[in-house]
Amino acid sequence: MGPNWVAFKTLFTSLDLDVVVPDPTNREAIKIGVKYSPEFVCFPFKATLGDFVSAIKKGADTLVMAIDCGPCRFGFYHAVQERLLHDMGYKNVSVIPLDQADLLEFKWVKTLQDLSGRRDLFIYSKFVKAVIFFLKKAKLLNDIQTAEGVFRAYERNQGDTTRIFNDMLLKLDEANTLSELRNFKKVIKEDFNNLDIDKSRSPLRVGLSGEIHISLEPYVNLDIRRKLGEMGVEIHQSLSLYDWVVHKFHLNYHRKWLEHLSHPYLPMDIGGECVWVLGEYIDKAKAGFDGFVHEYPFTCMPEVTARTIITNKLKKIYDLPIIYFSFDEHADAEGGFRTRIEAFVDLITDRRKQEIMKNAKFQANDNKKIYPHYGDNFYNECTQLLHT
Ligand code: SF4
Repeated sequence: MGPNWVAFKTLFTSLDLDVVVPDPTNREAIKIGVKYSPEFVCFPFKATLGDFVSAIKKGADTLVMAIDCGPCRFGFYHAVQERLLHDMGYKNVSVIPLDQADLLEFKWVKTLQDLSGRRDLFIYSKFVKAVIFFLKKAKLLNDIQTAEGVFRAYERNQGDTTRIFNDMLLKLDEANTLSELRNFKKVIKEDFNNLDIDKSRSPLRVGLSGEIHISLEPYVNLDIRRKLGEMGVEIHQSLSLYDWVVHKFHLNYHRKWLEHLSHPYLPMDIGGECVWVLGEYIDKAKAGFDGFVHEYPFTCMPEVTARTIITNKLKKIYDLPIIYFSFDEHADAEGGFRTRIEAFVDLITDRRKQEIMKNAKFQANDNKKIYPHYGDNFYNECTQLLHT
């Protein structure tokens, strides 16, 4: 899932395991995944099967796949993928399920123990280190994503933010002491602060949410964050690996707020990100955003349900412009994709102009829309950097 290999790598190297990072998801991996998967299975199943083959070809013999007890198909991924890999001739590989249904049940500790192959007392101190480093890196990846979403909308030279983002992943991968990780937030701010930006801009604000694999893996979502950012749009995406893990530890109060918002329309978790997508849509509408993007895999039941509720109900109440993207192995037509995004950005630009024309406060503010205060602490630190 995109840059999150950095956090997972640290989790397993801290347990003295050799880690094979598969190549970034690519056309070849998707082709293999599609060829060997059941036709109507979800797209993330196919993409991750292709990633597994990539890792096996680089020498991996043990694969770890998260599982959930959710009402959708995610709970079956690991078992079916292992059988498929055996059928493909990779008889000696095993796919270990990493149970993340409720992290406070600590089933994952047993999985890590089994993977490390050790039960001695010394290994427990390594567990603690592995989990702390994993969480810290996941949080820093979340902060990098926040900064990238904001700064790209202000960059003067297209591609600068992407370059800083990629360099930063390598730096984070190499940061392997607690003091380096404690100071890393400073590194993020310093690096982004060196970007050549145009402070006079007033970017459109767009919220982005959807199914987790599609939202976090840029190859499968056709790098939608970068494309929107390069059109001068500020991206707000609270969904990240860290956001998910903290939720599974029952400590994610932002998600609880989103559940509260979506409860009148969907009172239970039906899998995927459905409940939280509805909450995000309402939350962003209330925060005066200009638009919303919902991305999900073709045939994903929970996300299609979210789309239907937004279209038939929420859109009529909150009137926040929304665009939907359903991705699968056929969704690689760059031209059509770009045209749809451009049309959406044109539409929300026009809508904002109308808003400004009707609002005396916005006109007095140099014809710029005033947005309510929004975002987490790190987002606010980033906007301070932008405006000082
Ligand atoms: S959330 Fe959607 S894509 Fe993911 S396993 Fe469930 S149905 Fe499939």
